Order: sequence, then structure tokens, then C-alpha cells
Amino acid sequence: MSTHRTFTMIKPDATGAGHTGKIIDRIIEAGFTIKAMKWTRLSLEDAQAFYGVHAERPFFGELTEYMSSAPIVAAILEKDDAVADFRTLIGATNPAEAAPGTIRADFAESIAANAVHGSDSDENAAIEGSFFFSQRELA
Ligand code: UDP
Ligand code: MG
Repeated sequence: MSTHRTFTMIKPDATGAGHTGKIIDRIIEAGFTIKAMKWTRLSLEDAQAFYGVHAERPFFGELTEYMSSAPIVAAILEKDDAVADFRTLIGATNPAEAAPGTIRADFAESIAANAVHGSDSDENAAIEGSFFFSQRELA
């Protein structure tokens, strides 16, 4: 099952700009089934734990402050090839390099405030999903 799931967050720039509904529409129209979803806010400690893999990167402080600055939407999504197909749907990390029509090309503000998160592997999708959701919360 987990091979067909990915995890996403709609990030503070996008929730703050009122893009949440449009981004969820894009996700559903692309064929993803929502297994779990919540509107929530990360503490700085939560963001540091979630992005622990990036702790040594130069942008870690900026990233974790930004991700805890305002609400996010967290969701577990299901689809064949969910991880790869979702990365295609959202586009490159830097919105200036994201393909036309991708979520980041259309909604992101900058390389840091880039509208959405998408897991990079099946293993990380499972880890990231369970950071936010218990089994009981899965539809
Ligand atoms: N990020 C940043 N500056 C960079 C690279 C990444 O602020 O130079 C932020 C950005 O929000 C990105 C997140 O760190 O989405 C995680 O980086 P990653 O390389 O995993 O990119 P992603 O998988 O989100 O495309
Ligand atoms: Mg990543």
C-alpha cells in the first residue's frame, strides 16, 4: 500500500495567499485520492524535526522559521506511482525552473516559499505521513 502513497504539505505562502482550494483541486484533478488531510500549524521544533534531513543545509534556519510562520495543510495522497507523479505535478523546487502548468510554477513565490511539499521516496512518504497522522485518521 505504501508504495502508492505520497505525503504533501500546502506551505504557509500558499495557505496565506488563499491558494489552498485551488491546489487541492489540482491534486484531485490529477487523479490523487485524499487518504487524510488536516489544517494545522508547525511549531519551530516540529519543523526542525520534520526537515531534520536538511539540518546541515545552509537554508535550514530560514526553511524551518518559514514553515512554522503560518498554517499549513498536511495530507496523505494515494495513486499509482504517487511519489513520482506528485513530483511531476508540483514541478521543480525553484519555481523559476518549474515546468509551465505545475503547481509551483503557478502558485509559488520563491525557492523557499514554494507552495507545496512532496515526498521524494516511498520510504520518506511513509515517515512523513506518520509524522502528522495516525492509522485511525486514514480514510
Ligand atoms: N529550500 C530552500 N532553499 C534551497 C533549497 C530548498 O529554501 O536552496 C527549501 C524549499 O522550501 C524546499 C525545501 O527546502 O522545498 C526542501 O528542499 P528539497 O531540496 O528537499 O526540495 P523539494 O524536495 O521540496 O523540491
Ligand atoms: Mg525534498
